[in-house]
Amino acid sequence: MTERTRGERGRRRKGIGHGKSQGSEAGQVHGEAFSTLTVHAGEERRKPYHALTTPIVQSSTFTFENTAEIMRFVERRDAGSAHSPAPGLQQAGDREDYGRYGNPTQRAAERKVAALEGGARALLFASGMNAITTTLLTLLSSDDHLVVTKGCYSRTQQFIREFLPRWSIEATFLGGDDGAPSGAALIDALQPNTRLILCETPTNPYLRVMDLAQIVEVARRRQIITVIDSTFATPINLRPLEHGLDLVLHSATKYLGGHNDLLAGAVVGSNELIDQIKATRDVLGGVSSPHDAYLLIRGLKTLDLRVRQQNESAQEVAEYLEGHPAVRRVYYPGLPSHPDHHIARRQMRGFGGVVSFDIDGNLERTGRFVDRLRLPYVGPTLGGVESVVRQQAIFASSEPEERRKLGVADNLVRYAVGIEDVEDIIADLDQALAGL
Ligand code: PLP
Repeated sequence: MTERTRGERGRRRKGIGHGKSQGSEAGQVHGEAFSTLTVHAGEERRKPYHALTTPIVQSSTFTFENTAEIMRFVERRDAGSAHSPAPGLQQAGDREDYGRYGNPTQRAAERKVAALEGGARALLFASGMNAITTTLLTLLSSDDHLVVTKGCYSRTQQFIREFLPRWSIEATFLGGDDGAPSGAALIDALQPNTRLILCETPTNPYLRVMDLAQIVEVARRRQIITVIDSTFATPINLRPLEHGLDLVLHSATKYLGGHNDLLAGAVVGSNELIDQIKATRDVLGGVSSPHDAYLLIRGLKTLDLRVRQQNESAQEVAEYLEGHPAVRRVYYPGLPSHPDHHIARRQMRGFGGVVSFDIDGNLERTGRFVDRLRLPYVGPTLGGVESVVRQQAIFASSEPEERRKLGVADNLVRYAVGIEDVEDIIADLDQALAGL
């Protein structure tokens, strides 16, 4: 365990670090430490049939007793209160009518995510991409401009490059292939019609860390909305709303769910912005299913435990790899050698569970190394309890020229550390590297 992690753990136990939130009162445990929040926030204390767990309400439709009840519901809906979730326990009369607008299980998951991010409200979606596209379609109108950091998830970039221009929405992509723009570049990219800045930190796969204070300062002067994809960071390691960003997005498929058994996305922010995004979700229909929402609630209960373990293990793995002669370079924000280590130290509570590194070799030698690993699964995801490894180039394209264009090095490996014993993870890496 690093000194930093030990310190953080002590501070969290005292509940420090939940200062500037947007006022979520989900589950009445605001201000308590993270594990207490993950277990209790957002869920009603008294549940149907005296069950301990929040039930999966597997219903697409919710019925009414009579016309008078519908009329009361419609009145509240038109006044804007029927669909807006009560922050704590469900209030009398706060109810659903149709599954595309909300579901009690989904709402409980939303309240939990909002509490963890310190946001006023959260919305859950069928996938991370659904959260991102619905958010962008809500906040941008034709002839708007947005600034995007190049390290953003590839499908997010694809949506911005290929779909948004259909509505005359143009974007400036900032940063190099490794995805880290400077503050000056950010200011230069702004136009009179810039409406939104979308960033992601840490980035995939080089784990570059953006200085959020710099982004917020630039955006506030121009009243530009700031949105962050915080999937890699998790609310345990970074709470972007406390840094002044407007909206936080997650692929909840990753760390929030944590078990590689669900697809979901989330967006968290102020009531005003969430109301707007919800109105779009009601039309586009990308809600998460009650079953996935249940799995997310269950997964979130161990988020703090999982992420703390993953932080500690990833740090040890990164340090081990950095000292190995068969590894050319390691990219991990917890290492002093990482170009953004100083920002990460200031901004994050932990450095995350993903370690990227260059094998000293070519495409084939790197593939051999991956094939020799026995413990991690080989695949495209991250954030679950199982370690997952991938050679970036193999997933990126079968064409060497295309890989070069994408800036994906043939010898780059991304290792998403799970919660296995770190001694076993390192022993496995050791045997795989020794045989190269
Ligand atoms: N954002 C990041 C950083 C991701 O890594 C991913 C998926 O890998 C997404 C968004 C998209 O999320 P989903 O796969 O849940 O649609």
